[in-house]
Amino acid sequence: NRQYRLKTRPVGRIETTDFDFVTEPLSELEPGQARVRVLYLSLDPTNRIWMSDMDQYMPPVEIGAVMRGGGIGVVVDSNSSRYEPGNYVLGLTGWQDYCIADEGENAMTVLPADLPIPLPTMMGACGMTGVTAYFGLLELGRPKPGETVLVSAAAGAVGSVVGQIAKIQGCRVVGIAGGPDKCRYLVDELGFDEAVDYKRDDWREQLAAATPDGIDVNFENVGGEIMEAVMARMNLFGRMPLCGMISGYNSSEPARADFSPILMRRIEVRGFIVTDFMERFAEATQQLALWLLEGKLRHQETIIEGLENAPTAVNLLFDGGNIGKLIVKVADA
Ligand code: NDP
Repeated sequence: NRQYRLKTRPVGRIETTDFDFVTEPLSELEPGQARVRVLYLSLDPTNRIWMSDMDQYMPPVEIGAVMRGGGIGVVVDSNSSRYEPGNYVLGLTGWQDYCIADEGENAMTVLPADLPIPLPTMMGACGMTGVTAYFGLLELGRPKPGETVLVSAAAGAVGSVVGQIAKIQGCRVVGIAGGPDKCRYLVDELGFDEAVDYKRDDWREQLAAATPDGIDVNFENVGGEIMEAVMARMNLFGRMPLCGMISGYNSSEPARADFSPILMRRIEVRGFIVTDFMERFAEATQQLALWLLEGKLRHQETIIEGLENAPTAVNLLFDGGNIGKLIVKVADA
């Protein structure tokens, strides 16, 4: 069983040398356990947070432990009535070839056998990142038809779904993304009204031109100066679901921003973690799957082959090298 174990906490970018890549014998299965062959790993910006010992919403990964990560696998052996060999399961697999599924609080979710959605999409548009977009936008952003919704990291896993749900709600949608290809993708493929390329020097002027009536909902994925510039264009009583601040994850310095628009424009800012909505996951995944099957929700995955590439692939998130959900394929389904 090949495993990535965290050796040192990254300083700045994640380096391969922050891990030991070891091969361990498979452990015996205890009663109530099943062995899972990992097929796909979900790479997420929060992997970088878990590697650090900053104040966070889960315990950091301990030094020497298998790197934590979400994934999908197939049950290959079972001592549990919950899991049958051949079941596809979703949960925290870790960065390894095989994991143990148990019946405790970290039990894995058994996916229906006749799933009409591809497995990688069950981690993206119809999975954790889609659910993040769904609840963050609908519950916290509460967009009304005709309002302007802005989303940053718009061509990524969460952002691409946020923008499309906002369009379904009848909003005017503006995305911020890096580079002309992503901006074209947002408008031409996903139906956004406008895209702002923050890698161009004139991005602030583009932002102003794209939001002539201001911004009612800012779905914040990036933080830093992009967040600051967007907040400065927000309307009275705007809502700002604070989903992520990826621009600061590789930095040890907290980002500073001017919060005065929050006061002057009475903006409702609310941080959230998708697990806050754990009880309602099924509602979101069913709606997302329906939209997907109806052709109202487009999805894309960037899939990198090979477990061995996980520590380098995760940096694509910080370099903007992914469109849609970033995934590592560990084994054939
Ligand atoms: P994405 O698929 O959006 O990948 C990250 C993207 O962020 C990159 O493709 C890149 O796109 C952009 N980016 C990276 N660095 C910067 C930067 N310095 N400035 C501007 N853009 C940058 O990842 P996810 O969809 O998985 O996550 C998006 C955000 O949502 C993250 O902040 C993440 O932490 C958060 N999140 C929060 C959850 C929650 O429960 N609160 C759950 C899941 C995700 P580009 O080419 O446009 O630069």
